[in-house]
Amino acid sequence: MKDLNVIVERELANVEGEPTAQQLIEALMVAVRELQGDLEPAKGERKLYYFSAEFLMGRLLRANLINLGLLDEAEALLAGYGTTLAEVEEAEPEPSLGNGGLGRLAACFLDSIASLGLPGDGVGLNYHYGLFRQDLSHGIQEEHADPWIAPQSWLVDTGRAFWVQLRGQHLLAKVYDVQIPGYQNGVCNQLHLFDVENPAEPPAEGIDFDKQDLAGNLTSFLYPDDSDDAGRILRVCQQYFMVSAGAQMILADLEAAGHALTELPEHVAIQINDTHPSMVIPELIRLLTERGIDFGTAVDLVQRTCNYTNHTILAEALEKWPVSYLETVAPQIVPIIKKLDELARERTDNPGLSIWDANDTIHMAHMDVHFASKVNGVAELHTEILETSTMKDFYDLYPEKFTNKTNGVTFRRWLMGCNEPLAQMLDDTIGCAWRTDANALEDLVQHVDEEELQNRFLGVKYHRKEELAKWLKDTQGVDVNPDAVFDVQIKRLHQYKRQQMNALYAIWKYRQIKAGVKPARPLVMIFGAKAAPAYTLAKDTIHLLCLLSELFANDPEVAPYLQIVAVENYNVSAAEHVIPAADISEQISLASKEASGTSNMKLMANGAVTLGTMDGANVEIVERAGEENAYIFGRSSEDVIDLYDTGSYHPWDYWRDPEVEPLVDFVVSPELLSTGDPASLSRLYKDFIAADYFMALLDVKDYISTKERCLADYENRNAWARKALMNIARSGHFSSDRTIAEYDRDIWHVNPELGQ
Ligand SMILES: *Cc1c(COP(=O)(O)O)cnc(C)c1O
Repeated sequence: MKDLNVIVERELANVEGEPTAQQLIEALMVAVRELQGDLEPAKGERKLYYFSAEFLMGRLLRANLINLGLLDEAEALLAGYGTTLAEVEEAEPEPSLGNGGLGRLAACFLDSIASLGLPGDGVGLNYHYGLFRQDLSHGIQEEHADPWIAPQSWLVDTGRAFWVQLRGQHLLAKVYDVQIPGYQNGVCNQLHLFDVENPAEPPAEGIDFDKQDLAGNLTSFLYPDDSDDAGRILRVCQQYFMVSAGAQMILADLEAAGHALTELPEHVAIQINDTHPSMVIPELIRLLTERGIDFGTAVDLVQRTCNYTNHTILAEALEKWPVSYLETVAPQIVPIIKKLDELARERTDNPGLSIWDANDTIHMAHMDVHFASKVNGVAELHTEILETSTMKDFYDLYPEKFTNKTNGVTFRRWLMGCNEPLAQMLDDTIGCAWRTDANALEDLVQHVDEEELQNRFLGVKYHRKEELAKWLKDTQGVDVNPDAVFDVQIKRLHQYKRQQMNALYAIWKYRQIKAGVKPARPLVMIFGAKAAPAYTLAKDTIHLLCLLSELFANDPEVAPYLQIVAVENYNVSAAEHVIPAADISEQISLASKEASGTSNMKLMANGAVTLGTMDGANVEIVERAGEENAYIFGRSSEDVIDLYDTGSYHPWDYWRDPEVEPLVDFVVSPELLSTGDPASLSRLYKDFIAADYFMALLDVKDYISTKERCLADYENRNAWARKALMNIARSGHFSSDRTIAEYDRDIWHVNPELGQ
């Protein structure tokens, strides 16, 4: 019988003196990997392969210890060395193999699939430098490579490999596995990450690299800068590399299990996470026909195997590739796509639904919808918008394919793992059932009026705010006051998420304070956001937030009341520090634009109150938490869709409002121009008044007044605690265990206990 302590001692046997945090982490990683290696994958007649270009896993030591039931043992072991897991885990590198919500969703899903005991593995790419590391020290975003693969990492070399024909070369795709243990159920599934044989070294500075050097750089970075053709073609190469190797692996597994290729759908379900893995459809058809199956049968087999998740209605995010790119990267699948287009045209004469359009552009999402069994949106509102607007013609053609699967998050990481004091409070109040069934949090409803519990919650929150304050001090030298309201907006920087509208609130508040209206309590506005390297306006918004942060900090009239904290290099680990400390969850996207959101769910489960628009999963959050326990503002999605359809939104009409104009004009005020970049600020300013594509000025007044009402309510501390407790109590629906059970029930049918 292997034992955590024994393995760790063996690993540390040659260490002289006290082991460092690094050495302790490495020894624990070896031990956990060995223990996981003895567990069995979930088995069944049918197995799921979850294809995703991104898996934003976060640190894995704590999560794996929780799932193995070894957290207490590890803490006891570390106590023997005079330290704690919280202290040493800061030395664990974070694999940032994702951009944001979509990649983090895939990671939560793998945890839930294993924890529900479902046979299902992830399939992705082993990016060596993942998403860039963000440096904000100069008041602008600077990007650096973030190498995460240390001598000890979570990767297990499987020795397996597949040849992929790409751009006229043959590249070997090596398979590395990351083990995915289930929650205390003896199951260990895998995340298979493909990689090139001889990866190049990271660039000495920045994130520029030779995009032509496929053998070295194919898997260097996640989503390489796609502002030029070389970057876009590299991205198509990555996608084809992933799906070709993945499809070969699936067929090899099928044959190794003794099944005929014609039995593919009986034994395999494939989920295509967004359009990035869509080429798996023509690639599987190609491989099947190459192995002697006729084209029509191959199409039928693949269609019964594949399913597609749509993550966005933003047109620019739905991938379309020029045929010439595919001719360059993988000419072998081009004739197959041509035939699929012809088949699609037999099903409908609507040219808007074609795969290969008149401009020789391939629409990946169209190929998915025509040739997948099920198509799902990720929140009720999002699926409804797909059905009635964005994909209406597809829905009319294939109504039976469409289904909703509202996103979820794993409560093992996002409550048990990141907020032990809150988890303990829940255990003491309602018992431990919620740890295996998040719906049991509902039992908390009976206790929300208890003053003692409200006070305990406020104590836990305060303690978490002190801890965040300490972490911010240690990592970026910032002092924050835990008595302040912690107002949190953490997510990728994008105009549709409207960080720029939150910045206008900050300007409004600053002007109030300068005019002598002092708030009852200090406000700390916490932002965590990376901008895509080529997304200029997003970087301009980061610059604006940095300038405002400095302006407030340096003004003795303002600093005691208002602070902006820009959390540098926002990632999963940062989220785990910020979320437990949050009072207000900012979910202020332009209605209809946020497909679901998942930080809204993490924050809800940690007792933050939502300040948001009726968008994405916010709708379902408010439905469950109760309108009186959230702060909702802004135009409805119907209104917004109507404004786009009629082209009748003009920002200058709103800018002229005497209450709005000074806020927008402040962006180019002498106060900011004196320290900021004039080109950047004037770009932002012009965008506000002349474009404002995501309508910040439409909702800004409603936003300000709703936020002020929210801050006023915060002062009734026990009433506020009751709202927070109601949010926690009703958050169980947003467990990814619920989401995965629904995917399995309606799409995958892999649960051996339910049968097919
Ligand atoms: C949850 C999460 C996201 C998604 O946040 P949204 O607000 O839903 O966009 C992005 N990045 C990280 C690191 C996360 O943990």
